[in-house]
Formats: sequence, structure tokens, C-alpha cells
Amino acid sequence: MKIIMADNAGFCFGVKRAMDIVNNEINNIDGKLYSYGPLIHNPQVVDSLEQKGLKAIKDLSKINEGKIIIRSHGIPKYEEDKMIDLKLSIVDCTCPYVKAVHKRVENYMNKGYNIVIIGNSKHPEVIGINGWCNNKALIVENIKSVEQLPFMDKVCVVAQTTITKEKFDTISKEIKAKASIVEIFNTICKATKERQESAATVAKISDAMVVIGGYKSSNTLKLVEISKKYCKNVFHIETIKDLPLQEVLKFNTIGITAGASTPDWIIKEAIETMDNLNNNEMMEAIESSFTQIRRGDVIKGKVIFTTN
Ligand code: SF4
Repeated sequence: MKIIMADNAGFCFGVKRAMDIVNNEINNIDGKLYSYGPLIHNPQVVDSLEQKGLKAIKDLSKINEGKIIIRSHGIPKYEEDKMIDLKLSIVDCTCPYVKAVHKRVENYMNKGYNIVIIGNSKHPEVIGINGWCNNKALIVENIKSVEQLPFMDKVCVVAQTTITKEKFDTISKEIKAKASIVEIFNTICKATKERQESAATVAKISDAMVVIGGYKSSNTLKLVEISKKYCKNVFHIETIKDLPLQEVLKFNTIGITAGASTPDWIIKEAIETMDNLNNNEMMEAIESSFTQIRRGDVIKGKVIFTTN
């Protein structure tokens, strides 16, 4: 059995940054510590943080003291204002790339532009972006919804950071016919693009793909969608416990990728378990350095190579 680990799998820059900030807060905990919504779309990580003292809350009116973490997806301005009114101490973990989109839509709204966001209207990141232009953005989820856009004078187009470039290009091209002045900003995050390209590269040469990440994680679901384009056998799992091992291990080449909110320990556990069932040769190397495995080409006769 050959296992191919995609490059750029697992925590992205924004999630890693948020986790580092939160772990630092937990280590120096002094009073109540909350996150506004689950920190990331990964139930295993959220459970583990809760055990260490970070409580995820949905309703700000339920608290009136302590520190509150804004997660990497970001939040609308009116929610941030509410936190300030409640005199909560804010720890802002909004990913800088998302924050840049907030600033962009606020700036263009102030210049009199209509704002169009290409993305999923129910996703917290899109709800957050919309909240920085007075909730007046027109949200375009697919090519069909472009038809419903009115003709506008000036429009500024941005994207949810995790959509595919293909989707962004197709939709933004159509939007050009909907306004006199159109400013298009490709705000898709580089990490997302790289992760998606690596997943496609691995899926093309694998008999089966294992995509590890939260079932509600938007970027993980995109990796599943992309993998299915190139590989007939795709398994989306949150942890190794969800994988029908006997079914997967009958394949010769297994590709692995993981969403931006999947921690290394969950990826490592999945590889270890698969290899344990295959044989035990890879174990020692995985124990010594997980990152080496993701870069290394041949480990004790096993091919674990990157897509570069
Ligand atoms: Fe930031 Fe990109 Fe990660 Fe989103 S996917 S949190 S924009 S680094």
C-alpha cells in the first residue's frame, strides 16, 4: 500500500494563528474565557479546548464579564460593537486575510459602491463580511443568482476566502455586465487555493482519497468535492474512527488531504492506524517527526511523497 500525503494539508495560517493565541490565553487563564461560536469547525479540537477552560457561547447576552475570543472567520461589526458595549475584553483572532476583506467592503461602501460577496450566505465568514457593510451586501451563491442582481451604478465584488477560483472567475465575469463600474477583488486565500490544487494533484494519482476534516467545515467539503472530480473512491472522515479501514486498505494507492481546521495529531493518528493495519514499518518515523513525513520521499521503503 502506498500512502500519498497532499502538500498544504491541515491547519492553515489563520487557524494556526488563532490556535496559538488561544493556547496562550488558556495557559495564562485568569477569569472567564469564551469563544464566540466554536473556535474552528472541528469538534475534536473544540472539545479539547473546552476541557482546558474555553467555553464556546452563541449568545452574547448570556455573559457580562471575561475575555471573548473572536474566531478566525471574523464577525460582523455590530457584534464587535456589542462586545465593546458589554465591556468584554476582546481577543481578536480574525484571520488577517478575512480582516482585509472587512476593511475593503467597509471602504467601498463608504465610497458609494454596492457590495457583492460571492460565497455561501449562511457561512459565518460571509455573515461577518456582510456585517462590515451594514448588512447590505448582495450575496451571490451560484451563477444562477447573478441573474437576480439589479443593474447597479458601481459595484465592488469580493469572495468568501474558501471558494474555488473557478467559481469566482465564472461568477465575477457575469457580474461585469451588471454595473457601469465594477471593481473585482479576488479575495480567495492563497492557502485555500494551494490546498485545493494539492488535493486535486493527489486525487488524480490515487485509487482512494481520504479527506480528513469537520463534517461542517466548508473548506473540507470543498476538498471532498474536488477529490470526487478526480477519484472514484473518496472517504470524508472527521477522525480515523469514521474510516471503514478494511474497505480502504484494499486500494493500492491512498491519497490523504485535510481541511484547514484539522490538527496534525488527527492526521497523524489516521496515517498511523492505516499503516498499523498494513504493517508497522512507518511507525517509528512518524513518531520521530510528523512534518518530516510530509516532506520526506521514502521512509523505510514506504513511499510517502509530497506533490511537488
Ligand atoms: Fe485565513 Fe485563509 Fe485560513 Fe481562511 S483559509 S483562516 S483566510 S489563512
